[in-house]
Amino acid sequence: MENCLFCKIIKEDIPCYKIYEDEFTLAFLDISNNPEGHTLVVPKVHAENLFDVNEQVYKAVENTVRKVSKHYKDIGYADGINTYINSGKQAGQEVMHLHVHIIPRKENDGIVFSHTPNVSKQELSKTQEKLKLNN
Ligand code: AMP
Repeated sequence: MENCLFCKIIKEDIPCYKIYEDEFTLAFLDISNNPEGHTLVVPKVHAENLFDVNEQVYKAVENTVRKVSKHYKDIGYADGINTYINSGKQAGQEVMHLHVHIIPRKENDGIVFSHTPNVSKQELSKTQEKLKLNN
């Protein structure tokens, strides 16, 4: 898609620090390098985010996320991995081309993904009623 930063990277109009590529996906270093090794995985066909990506494309992206994550562990670069997707501006998405963030984690790296205390069962049930999705 014209004017899409990650489409330009895929077309090689803009350079990137490539980690892995296959027919459907590309993985490259996040320019922030924060933390070191922060990697993005994108589909080669343009999809804005989780809301409009089709199942086949999403599966290809997830497969590359798995492959790259496992590689980082296998070469001893990461002890663990966090992955996340920002979908929608309100969720902090800045580049409107679907991308999965891979954050390599090391023992005592000081990165905190905080957990809030558990809520009551009643509250959880109420939320469940609001959110249930039938198969
Ligand atoms: P998000 O907030 O989920 O849309 O994340 C966008 C990410 O893209 C940020 O972590 C940026 O650091 C990263 N980014 C922006 N421009 C580039 C670029 N040219 N190459 C690699 N990563 C980039």
